[in-house]
Amino acid sequence: MYVLFEGIDTCGKSTQIELISQKHPEIIVTHEPGGTAFGQKAREILLSDSLASKRAELLLFLADRAEHYQEVISPNQDKVIISDRGFLSGIGYALANGDFDFDELVSLNRFALEGHFPDKVILFLTDMKTLEERTSVKCLDGIELRGLEYLLKVQEHMKESILKLGIPHLFVDATEDIETIHTHITDYLRNTL
Ligand code: C5P
Repeated sequence: MYVLFEGIDTCGKSTQIELISQKHPEIIVTHEPGGTAFGQKAREILLSDSLASKRAELLLFLADRAEHYQEVISPNQDKVIISDRGFLSGIGYALANGDFDFDELVSLNRFALEGHFPDKVILFLTDMKTLEERTSVKCLDGIELRGLEYLLKVQEHMKESILKLGIPHLFVDATEDIETIHTHITDYLRNTL
């Protein structure tokens, strides 16, 4: 069972993953980019260097995803796997950048994932006010560069992609408090955990 936690920066997905994994140590927790040895090198490049070719950047994200699928997701399908980010980040950020179209991105991601999209997605949805509050506290480099409107655009693309692809999902109101969100998630995953 492959469960993907998605959402833009500061939406709180990592906090929720931490809470669940404390209560359920048997769960395999992983992330993209960087969930494998190769992925860690890819992540370093992706987050530090700005590649001239948008295609090269996309292919590196996809290479990370393919290796992650092969090394972490596929061998553990009989267990519960929670991934912090995955192909929806891939599609959401790329669409917001405006470099590729949806169908193209879906087929490239299907290829990287050997045809296996996640079984369930939990998408954290935040708003401008919360984003402003949290980014002023956290002060992340990438966010300053790209702006909050951009991030909300990414979020919208993630949401639309889930609906278009018909993937089983839970939309979480990321502006609620940590315990309330945790309850929504554990309710949704009751038969999975
Ligand atoms: O959540 P995490 O710390 O792993 O994300 C690292 C950064 O990579 C984030 O700032 C996110 O905006 C960015 N990212 C991206 N495109 C992706 C995945 C992540 O720009 N496909």
